[in-house]
Amino acid sequence: MDKDRSKVINIAKPRYNKEFTKQYDYLMVCNDIIGSIITYIERNNFLELEIKMSEEEIREFEKADDFQKWLVDNGFKDAIYNAYYVDIFRNLLFDFHSFFYASLEAISKNKTSLAFTLLRKPFKDILGTLEWIYVDKINFIDCFVNGRAKDLEITKNKAEEISTKISSLRKVSNFFELRFEKEEDISLENYWNNSTHLITTRGKYKTKDGNINFLFLNEEERKDLAKYYYKIVPVIMQYAVELIVELFEDIINAPKATKIMNKLLRYSDYGDATNSKILKRLLEDGILYICKECDQINKITMEDKERLKEHIIECKHCGNILYTFDYNIFEWGSIEEKLNFNM
Ligand SMILES: [Zn+2]
Repeated sequence: MDKDRSKVINIAKPRYNKEFTKQYDYLMVCNDIIGSIITYIERNNFLELEIKMSEEEIREFEKADDFQKWLVDNGFKDAIYNAYYVDIFRNLLFDFHSFFYASLEAISKNKTSLAFTLLRKPFKDILGTLEWIYVDKINFIDCFVNGRAKDLEITKNKAEEISTKISSLRKVSNFFELRFEKEEDISLENYWNNSTHLITTRGKYKTKDGNINFLFLNEEERKDLAKYYYKIVPVIMQYAVELIVELFEDIINAPKATKIMNKLLRYSDYGDATNSKILKRLLEDGILYICKECDQINKITMEDKERLKEHIIECKHCGNILYTFDYNIFEWGSIEEKLNFNM
């Protein structure tokens, strides 16, 4: 863990609309979690494809005109599909992370139009594709390998179909109306359409006569838009991060203790930004962890809440400090075997 990150977090405050610093910090942490997942996949060889073949299979493979087809037809479909999947997942996250970072940077500097425009790709196209992967990974890869590019498009109809499946699988809303529904007053769909185009001629938010979208915003209007951004974006980002983390934990086959610990850290930030009570519920029973410095067992409880919000866990035995910005897979990976966790 890079300890200098604490300094970065403290310096990187929004320049405008400072009353939303908590929400800004939370969004930055969410994006850092995604960044740490990308790094983990790259550094731990999850992008390498290893296939064991007999000598005869190797001879046949080398003769094949279409190596992909040969692998699929000769019993290696799972291996090659999984390799495609991890590569696609990593690259989707990379784009999500870059666009979202730029959007957050823009809103923090009052570049309102740019901030909304940059949200469209991560929240609509990329998140929509990740949701498709979540509900039916094989179907998505089949389309990618055998279908037309057009089949991969996240249309409103497709998104609606996927949303229904997400609701029944995850028991949470995926904010379909906020991301895809033009008819909803508060839908982001209207905001990023207006910020992308100077003139819009359809839907509820068509450009008024004598105006040009987002071109003549006064300070009060910019403030209202920032208020809207910091209210809506954290809830969608929270949903996105939970979905992404679940896909990631499945790829690396994360231990249960690691999952629980990271969930606690994520919710400590979310609760702070949105006044959710979920952190309180998680801390009531206390969460166990082992200090890497002194190897002693600690119990994190309600009294540690404030420090958790500062991204710090302090060992009660030796005082060693752990900074908790990212997905902390490295810190928590060995807990399960040591404590003989059974959750
Ligand atoms: Zn310790």
